[in-house]
Amino acid sequence: MSLSAGRLLTILLTAAGLFLGEYCIALPQNLAVPGGVAVVPVKADEQATYNGHPVMVAKDNGAFFAIVGIPLSEKPGTYEIKTPSQVYTFSVQAKDYETQRLTITNKRQVNPLEKDLTRIRRERSEMDRAFTRFDTAIPLAVDFSLPAAGPVSSPFGLRRIFNDQPRNPHSGLDIAAPEGAPITAPAAGKVVATGNYFFNGNTVLLDHGQGLISMYCHMSRINVNLGDVVAGNEVLGAVGQTGRVTGPHLHWSVSLNNARVDPNLFLVE
Ligand SMILES: [Zn+2]
Repeated sequence: MSLSAGRLLTILLTAAGLFLGEYCIALPQNLAVPGGVAVVPVKADEQATYNGHPVMVAKDNGAFFAIVGIPLSEKPGTYEIKTPSQVYTFSVQAKDYETQRLTITNKRQVNPLEKDLTRIRRERSEMDRAFTRFDTAIPLAVDFSLPAAGPVSSPFGLRRIFNDQPRNPHSGLDIAAPEGAPITAPAAGKVVATGNYFFNGNTVLLDHGQGLISMYCHMSRINVNLGDVVAGNEVLGAVGQTGRVTGPHLHWSVSLNNARVDPNLFLVE
């Protein structure tokens, strides 16, 4: 087995980091807007909350940071992070997302039937259970790589109008790739939900620790099972066009403390 120079360098740097007792992680970008992430220095590694919900606390270079997902619906203003010993504040700035009009030919996917609504509600509660997890036993993994090769065909946060009817903003980003192209884990994680959902089609949700959950939709094939622990870059399945789609692509969502946030903020160059 040969070792690339880059891989060897990573191993040496990791070893040096462990030796120094400082393992540096690439924190997500600080962008305190609706749909963004606030990276707020805190004094100690203690449980922090935002709007009453636990938030991630990560260590980088010997310092601690609360990493807060800001919902797309949050209004600009000043918000609090509470810890047992202190209250910290951060401000959320406004951000304008663009509007996109889409035509869906399957009208049932825009205005579902009564029996579809029962299924949609059941699936939504299954996904909500995954999105509201806060698991501190899963090793935290925040340094993401792109889960599929291809251009971004629809960015995060777009305000969407399906067949002239306003719907929820785009809560992930779409990567255009042909049916069958591999989808890989952006970082290590645990499979916490999987199924064939009405809107999202074949779907996998990964838990990366401390409320950081990622989701892969419209898959043609799923290679993993509920409870599996996957490594970064491990194949989760393949790109497809199951669920509400206009063509094959990967819809990739990243959720932090149950707020869908821009996946780009977690990508390491
Ligand atoms: Zn999408």
